[in-house]
Amino acid sequence: RLEELRERIGQLVRSVPDFPQPGIVFRDLSGVFADADGLQDMASAIIAEVPSEVELIAGLDARGFIVGATVAARLGVGFVPVRKAGKLPPPTRSQTYDLEYGTATFEVRDNAVKAGQRVLIVDDLLATGGTARAAGSLLRQCGAQLLGYSFLVELTGLAGRESLVDDPDAGGVPVH
Ligand code: AMP
Repeated sequence: RLEELRERIGQLVRSVPDFPQPGIVFRDLSGVFADADGLQDMASAIIAEVPSEVELIAGLDARGFIVGATVAARLGVGFVPVRKAGKLPPPTRSQTYDLEYGTATFEVRDNAVKAGQRVLIVDDLLATGGTARAAGSLLRQCGAQLLGYSFLVELTGLAGRESLVDDPDAGGVPVH
């Protein structure tokens, strides 16, 4: 069943060579989001592996908002956006992280997470894992009990999964 979902979703993913820069194959998921069945399949595929104790979904700017909020609505739990710096009104908490060139900063609304709340981080795609690791760190600072990470697409060969599972601060939470 999960294999069927993956097959159908895969047909809606477009691979665009050399975007946004030479050497990168961009995985464009807009065809999944635009397709009525694709959107439901996407949520079903993620929900198939979601830990049942999840109380809150955190989605990462910007495609993680689409994936995460769709999953949250299906599960009947809340959603918190983890945003790029400068978009949220104060008070916020922030976490700066390294990119290939330079740094970026994530912010969440202060009080977005209740102490001990069981949170799943959702994004569209796992590459090196740096983005998700920063979000995990930020949410734990906010008091979240991090249950794990779920992605629609995993680029293997970049060791993103290992970087999340082996993150000593995250305590070996699962990657789906
Ligand atoms: P990383 O921090 O290296 O795991 O990168 C993951 C983030 O960058 C996700 O939010 C993705 O949306 C985006 N991303 C990285 N590589 C790609 C790619 N090849 N295609 C589409 N999005 C990507």
